[in-house]
Parts: sequence; C-alpha cells; structure tokens
Amino acid sequence: MALHANTVPQARHARRTRSAKSARRHVVATSLAATALLVSGAIASAATGEVAHASTEAGVSLTPPPQFLQVERPELTDHTEQIQRAAQREVERLVAQKAETERLAREAAEQAARQAAAEEAARRPAVLFPADGTFTSGFGQRWGTNHNGIDIANSIGTPIKAVTNGTVIESGPASGFGLWIRLQQDDGTIGVYGHIDTSLVSVGQPVRAGDQIATMGNRGQSTGPHLHYEVWTANGTKIDPAGWLNSRGVPVPGGQGS
Ligand SMILES: [Zn+2]
Repeated sequence: MALHANTVPQARHARRTRSAKSARRHVVATSLAATALLVSGAIASAATGEVAHASTEAGVSLTPPPQFLQVERPELTDHTEQIQRAAQREVERLVAQKAETERLAREAAEQAARQAAAEEAARRPAVLFPADGTFTSGFGQRWGTNHNGIDIANSIGTPIKAVTNGTVIESGPASGFGLWIRLQQDDGTIGVYGHIDTSLVSVGQPVRAGDQIATMGNRGQSTGPHLHYEVWTANGTKIDPAGWLNSRGVPVPGGQGS
C-alpha cells in the first residue's frame, strides 16, 4: 500500500514534471517563433500562425500568454517604423545630394559667365574712337564761327559706337544736328553724336564702350555724311574731343584737335 501510496504522488509528480517540461518546451517554441517574428518583420501575420501551430503540437492546454505577443507586436511596429524612417532619411539624403550637385553646377556656370564677361571687358577698351572714317574737321574756329566738335566722314549707315561706358540721356531730333544722341559718359562728361541717320538706343539705356548706338547720316546742317562728336563737361563747357580722347589714350586718326 505504501508503495501504491507512494506511486500516486510520484505519478502526479511525473505528470507535473512533464507538464512543466511541456510548458518550458512551449515557451522555447514560442520564443523561437517570436525570434522568427522579429527576423521576418514584414510577414508578421504568417509568423503568428506558426506560434498557434507550435502550441497545438506541444499538446498542452496552455495557450501562449496573450501579453507575450502583445509585447512583441509593438516591437515589430517599431522595427517597421525604423525601416520607414531609415528609408525616408535615405530619400532626404539623396534629394539633398541632388540639390547640392545642381547648386555646384549652377555656381560653376555662373563663375564661367563672370569670367567670360571679365575677359570680354578686358578685351574691350575703356575708351575708343566713335567711328571709322576720315577726320575732316577739328574743334575750334572755323569759317568765322566756333566748331564745337570733331567731324568724321564716311558713308551713310556707317556704325557709330559709344566712346565710353555710359547711359543714354537723349535720343531724337535736335536743331542743327537733325538727329542726335547724348550719352552720360563714365568720367562725368557728356558725349554728343550729331547728324546721325538712325538711333539704335533709347533714353535711360545703359551702353558699353564699343556698343553700336547709331548709324552715320547727313541730317541737319551738314555738308555731307559724317559724325559730329562733341564732349561737354558736367557744367556744359564744350571741350576739344581730340584732346580729351588723347588724354584717355585714344589717338585721333588725322586729327590735330585744332
Ligand atoms: Zn562738325
């Protein structure tokens, strides 16, 4: 009887032990399945199915503690969010990299344009003679009157260029000159271009030395196609253009300035 009496508790103990082992096996299986969940990430629902299947095979009535999966699920969500955030950061990095590449290309283009403009400016003299032609008359007394400029004769339509950088302050009809242009020149003087056939500029327009501003003509009181060029100081005094050009390094072909 004692043996029998002892047998029951032992059997119970054995059952409890088996039951405990089964429970441990179940926990191990569940943990493995949970690890699989973590690894697979995106296939979370499929992995959850594996857990249920593992429980059935273990043959125990213990169901997986719901809180166990509930603990894992937020981690899965976090993991997905981490991937999404990493992907977003990568997209942002690529967008920033593209913008930086475009900015550098733009700066390089602007630098090249500035350099080209500087080279063009360096090639272009600061002061130059206004037109090709024959110097026919200088500044001073002529035919009993004062000739306030220099005359350069050529055919009608010959290009007339701005002598310096400046701004157009007048363009239109003028008594005696027929049609004229007045430029505010870079040193404060005013350049006057008379008898022109056509004006190519308008008031307020900035010009650069060498820009064509007009064509040579024979308008007004003129004895033949030519450009009459004057230089006025800021206070309106008319000075010898030949001397002024010479002082700025521009020879006057055939002109003595007298
Ligand atoms: Zn003249």
